[in-house]
Amino acid sequence: MKLDITKGIQRKGNDMPFALMEPWEDDRWNGDVISYDGPVSVAGSYMLADETVIVRGEARAKVISPCARCLKPAVTEVTAELEEAFVRDVGQDVEPGDDQYMYSGHVLELDEAVRTALLLELPSRILCREDCKGLCDQCGQDLNINECSCQKDLTRRNPFSALASLLNEDEEV
Ligand SMILES: [Zn+2]
Ligand SMILES: [Zn+2]
Repeated sequence: MKLDITKGIQRKGNDMPFALMEPWEDDRWNGDVISYDGPVSVAGSYMLADETVIVRGEARAKVISPCARCLKPAVTEVTAELEEAFVRDVGQDVEPGDDQYMYSGHVLELDEAVRTALLLELPSRILCREDCKGLCDQCGQDLNINECSCQKDLTRRNPFSALASLLNEDEEV
């Protein structure tokens, strides 16, 4: 996501509107593979204060990530406020500050700033729906689709009942 700041360089101190949109590749976040449903967009304005570029705007994306319970893809619409400073890279060994990014030439690379802002807005636990029943932790059955027989066993599971059922089977043979 590249922001051309040529016009802003010619008009320092002025707010310059911009809007960008771009499809993004799959990504990783908190150990999950995530993807984007449709393009990621960001719109706002930027301004050059001396050689530092202040970018303000709003980023939007639909993030697809696995449901925390059933692992099916769940779509989360995310909107994130963006306010970042881009410092011109003058080739010296100056580390950018925590909230700063570097740029050189007439182009800002916004990907990292936009990605960070968007993904921080993601809830830590995403569910495909509020009442998702998840998967059975024994047989893996998707309990949204069908009940499995493990549930009954769970309530009366102890070593003796397992042994008893074994003995019963032996008797029947
Ligand atoms: Zn689910
Ligand atoms: Zn089960």
